[in-house]
Amino acid sequence: MSSASTAPLDILNEVFGYAAFRGQQQPIVEHVVAGGDALVLMPTGGGKSLCYQVPAIVRHRRQRGVAIVVSPLIALMHDQVGALEEAGVHAAFLNSTLSLEEAQQVEREMMSGRLVLLYAAPERVTTPRFQAQLESLHERGLLSLFAIDEAHCVSQWGHDFREDYLGLSVLHERWPDVPRIALTATADALTRADIIERLQLRDAQVFISSFDRPNIRYTIVEKDDARRQLLRFVRDEHDGDAGIVYCQSRKKVEETAAWLNDEGLSALPYHAGLEADVRRRHQDRFLREEGIVMVATIAFGMGIDKPDVRFVAHLDLPKNIESYYQETGRAGRDGEPADAWMTYGLADVVNQRRMIDESPAGEEFKRGQRAKLDALLALAEAHDCRRVRLLAYFGERSTTCGNCDNCLHPPATWDATEAARKALSCVYRFHQQRGQRFGAGHLIDVLRGKETEKVAQYGHRGLSTFGIGADLSELQWRGVLRQLIALGHLRAEGEYNTLELTESAREVLRGEVQLLLRVPAEAPRRGRAARGGGREKPAPVALDEDGQRRYAALKAWRAEVAREHNLPAYVVFHDATLAEMARRMPASLDALSGISGVGARKLEAYGEDLLRVLAGVPA
Ligand code: ADP
Ligand code: ZN
Repeated sequence: MSSASTAPLDILNEVFGYAAFRGQQQPIVEHVVAGGDALVLMPTGGGKSLCYQVPAIVRHRRQRGVAIVVSPLIALMHDQVGALEEAGVHAAFLNSTLSLEEAQQVEREMMSGRLVLLYAAPERVTTPRFQAQLESLHERGLLSLFAIDEAHCVSQWGHDFREDYLGLSVLHERWPDVPRIALTATADALTRADIIERLQLRDAQVFISSFDRPNIRYTIVEKDDARRQLLRFVRDEHDGDAGIVYCQSRKKVEETAAWLNDEGLSALPYHAGLEADVRRRHQDRFLREEGIVMVATIAFGMGIDKPDVRFVAHLDLPKNIESYYQETGRAGRDGEPADAWMTYGLADVVNQRRMIDESPAGEEFKRGQRAKLDALLALAEAHDCRRVRLLAYFGERSTTCGNCDNCLHPPATWDATEAARKALSCVYRFHQQRGQRFGAGHLIDVLRGKETEKVAQYGHRGLSTFGIGADLSELQWRGVLRQLIALGHLRAEGEYNTLELTESAREVLRGEVQLLLRVPAEAPRRGRAARGGGREKPAPVALDEDGQRRYAALKAWRAEVAREHNLPAYVVFHDATLAEMARRMPASLDALSGISGVGARKLEAYGEDLLRVLAGVPA
């Protein structure tokens, strides 16, 4: 294959070492190469970068032009440029981390037309100085395209960097003949309309990919002892893997990270309350080392394009499905199996509802928030395919996925209608007695007929509802109450989350509403898992023992190279590429080049070394 080929597929093979375009990459690339504008909506991990990198290379090979990539995230620029240079594509970034001399050097490369891609932050792109440079490039026919990454930043729906992004409409105004490609993983219609409007992309072709992430397995478990559940999940299924654990509060982040460390994991905390350099150090370690578990608030994650995050766990309920999808989407960008795991319980429902109720926002806004929370609760309580529900929320129709907890282990359900009536009438009795309200704990004690101090103090032994629910476990009762709150028949109020009937409780009391609950996963299902019903740990490729040894040797070699080049390991080669080498044991450069992820430049730079590593390990 000639290195002068300008055919997109040749470039994909030769430069990136990939055999075929994915999803809609090919029509997008062709459209942009032909000079059209495009708006690309693709989920995280869908492969957005190649949609502008391949056209940039094609156009550069044809006419030496440079592509300007607008990106808000400095850490990301560094790694993207590193990855391109590793693949033999001349790329650079301009941002505040460069010294004056370094910046001038990059500018010279850009102005000469030798650079293929230049990454810059939006605020730099709109400066008069940079605009003058673009003008000069344009005059000489060296401006090949504009790529606007994270394009949702321009939207009014609450994003950082917005001011800087708004200024980008100047690109189209000044150089209407230069093709533009805007990219985002944010799917909703409002944001999309906003991007088109503000970036003046009315004539752009819109490419919408399915937002499904088939390699992510969704699991939502009932909260029992959240930390222990998390630990069991990580130990059983993700020993040694990199993952993110989301918690709601900074305090919980710190405590959970410390506890996981005590339990022998490599966990680091991350939240907005930590010093900037601590945050940077932790993020760096997460990106560069293997098997780090990042315990974080939602402050962590934007722009994290580490491809081999194997799990995202939620110890607290997110605000809505959008957040849940965005956060879980950080798992498995490399397309290999990954887990989105959440533990969820009564307190989550109560807390999220409270946060909305007590926020100073207007009533209409709160109504919107409640509706979004309801959709998430419905997902959490669902007995049917989680993915079908998730995708439906984003307007996509699909069929049962076979890769979520409910598909894999269809939950047994039980009819909780009668139990719900008992619970509600007990709340009613409390109220009737002295106008009093109590929280879930006491309510459950009364239903189960427990003789506690509080029961004695309030004389609740004498209630007609005392002990009428002794047949159900505490966990089952919590499930009933959780669902009653989720469905809005009960409301938790005040400092002590005391429970109160709502208007709609009457329908349940009259027996007009049927309540079907999942059987708490605990008793019946734990046994199954213990007998091996759990699944195998996802490995890139199943390797035998010798294969594992070769894989380990390759990883050690890669760590060395990554350190030398000051880059994360995955920039050198992905896990999947190394695993494929370990499995196929290529013995020649030619055989090596057939492995996905091995492009011409990497073959030249590392081929001999790799063959030596592979040969050096006893077969
Ligand atoms: P996004 O920016 O959409 O989240 P990326 O551009 O980072 O996704 O791509 C995700 C991963 O998929 C990257 O590791 C990339 O190398 C890989 N990838 C993208 N396109 C292909 C392809 N056609 N064949 C193989 N791997 C691909
Ligand atoms: Zn499913």
